[in-house]
Amino acid sequence: MKVPLLDLKAQYKTIKDEILKITADIYESQYFILGPHVEKLENEIANYCSTKHSLGVSSGTDALLLALLASGIGNGDSVITSPYTFFATAGSIVRTGAKPVFVDIDPNTYNISSEKISETISSMKGLERKGLKAIMPVHLYGQCADMDPILEIAKKNDLIVIEDAAQAIGAEYKEKRAGSLGDFGCFSFFPSKNLGAFGDGGIITTNSSIYYEKMHTLRVHGSQPKYYHKYIGGNFRLDALQAAIVSVKLKYLDEWTAARQNNAQNYRKLFNKAGLAKEITLPVEKENLHIYNQFIIKVSGKRDELRTHLNNAGVGTEIYYPVPLHLQECFSYLGYKKGDMPVSEDASLNTIALPIYPELTEDMQAYVVDKIKEFYRSNIK
Ligand SMILES: *Cc1c(COP(=O)(O)O)cnc(C)c1O
Repeated sequence: MKVPLLDLKAQYKTIKDEILKITADIYESQYFILGPHVEKLENEIANYCSTKHSLGVSSGTDALLLALLASGIGNGDSVITSPYTFFATAGSIVRTGAKPVFVDIDPNTYNISSEKISETISSMKGLERKGLKAIMPVHLYGQCADMDPILEIAKKNDLIVIEDAAQAIGAEYKEKRAGSLGDFGCFSFFPSKNLGAFGDGGIITTNSSIYYEKMHTLRVHGSQPKYYHKYIGGNFRLDALQAAIVSVKLKYLDEWTAARQNNAQNYRKLFNKAGLAKEITLPVEKENLHIYNQFIIKVSGKRDELRTHLNNAGVGTEIYYPVPLHLQECFSYLGYKKGDMPVSEDASLNTIALPIYPELTEDMQAYVVDKIKEFYRSNIK
């Protein structure tokens, strides 16, 4: 049996007619950049995330960069974030001239630890403390970071909060949507995200009209009006085709999320039945709601051999992420070393992502769990 990590073709089949119709309209109009389709999507996403504003941008990475630029973060500043995330989270901080300050994660949720954020801030002195401007929590794998304590720390220390919600559209924390909790919510429409475009794209949510206006200007090279440049912005525009496609998909997002959640429950049943409690730690659902962009299991050893075994059996997997950011070559100048972020380092060695996409069948899931059981029965005495 073949079980890919993600099967976008299966999803496309269900919406093909709608997509072909709307994109054909755009071809006829020959109006490709920003415009009514982007505005429509911005209204829909602001509504979906319960925020006042949303701004369509060129990618999730650019969403993060734009939020940082709008916050006025740059040279001499620093931003607290997680080392256990996709590169763009910290990469965008560095691109503004600021410095990422890594804080280790919670071992259950893989999200940044609020206790460790407090400890890190307490240990900062003088200029270092003065330069700290923001916290960028990541809602990893589709589950919100523990936002109440993070927001409290931010308030006490006068810090901006930029949510990296690239993997978490529709996720909730105490009945509030990801992207509505901090000053900014940054989303990605990269095709493998739960709400993916047919190319690159992203969106930023905010409740602040001031930030919204500034980002709106920064998105078009900081010009307001055209050819009069108030700031040094960039080309951060979303195009009409991507916006229209995402808009079609948004109608089905809750249905797809429910299917992912159902698949997660089914994995739990299958793993329990397989009696693998010693070998496998299942994802901890701490916050309501987890949207399962990824279903991550932690194993008791031989992760890479398990991955090879699954690959040979036709099961697609991925490692998110094999090298925590504090140990990346390009960040060596920051001075971190192995052992500085033990929880992230452990997660990078022992976790693996299994297929969880909405169209996955129960038979496929049973096959995946069977193959994992087979591996541990023959490899661990
Ligand atoms: C995907 C992702 C991004 C970047 O989004 P792009 O649209 O690929 O630029 C940023 N942060 C996290 C956590 C992501 O998963």
